Amino acid sequence: MSLELTDITLTYADGDTRLTALDRVTLQVPKGSLTAVVGPSGSGKSSLLAVAATLITPDAGTVTVDGTATAGLSRGELAELRRHRIGIVFQQPNLLPSLTAAEQLQVMARMGGRGAGRSRARVLELLDAVGLVDQAHRRPHQLSGGQRQRVNIARALMNDPTVLLVDEPTSALDHERGAAVVELIARLTRERATATVLVTHDRAHLTAADRVAEVHDGRLPRPAPTG
Ligand code: ADP
Ligand code: MG
Repeated sequence: MSLELTDITLTYADGDTRLTALDRVTLQVPKGSLTAVVGPSGSGKSSLLAVAATLITPDAGTVTVDGTATAGLSRGELAELRRHRIGIVFQQPNLLPSLTAAEQLQVMARMGGRGAGRSRARVLELLDAVGLVDQAHRRPHQLSGGQRQRVNIARALMNDPTVLLVDEPTSALDHERGAAVVELIARLTRERATATVLVTHDRAHLTAADRVAEVHDGRLPRPAPTG
């Protein structure tokens, strides 16, 4: 299993008490598969992704990424794990305004410790995979919303992550472009064998998923026992 969340509870400070954002959530995502997470606003979807991304440490429960248990790792070790094993795509493509599409990816390669020559080939390969190789020289303001989100996805894949975490990538797109982005994520999940979690509010996108996890008030139904 490439991503395993086991019995995760996460609370936030809420005045004098604590708000329970995730309540004993267990989720397992195999390599090369896409799990869609749906649920009402405020149900805990982004919190779930943030815990999976090791950006927030839960109150209880364990996160295992590509066989590595994250409990007890230092901040530096977690940052290293994220750089090499986890690709993250947030709702808004937070691209750097002054950089071209190719340079957005180069920055990630540098953080991942790749040499410039090897990374140039990989940048072009990934921009090609998301259908943007002919836009490599364009800056964010010269790209459409859908194209920017594709650059964002290519960037997340730059260091060949095992786990790909995507939070509502289509919220700024119309339905058709949103569907194309979700299909792209599904295809890349198979081609690159990532364990992908996709948060979406659009049920039309669920057909692209191998599994659907419904969050309500921070809870996920337990997976049905097998065998
Ligand atoms: P979703 O992504 O499904 O809309 P979130 O994970 O963002 O849900 O939020 C789950 C709950 O946790 C909500 O009640 C939200 O208000 C609360 N919450 C989220 N982030 C924080 C935070 N940083 N501090 C306090 N409460 C938070
Ligand atoms: Mg959210």
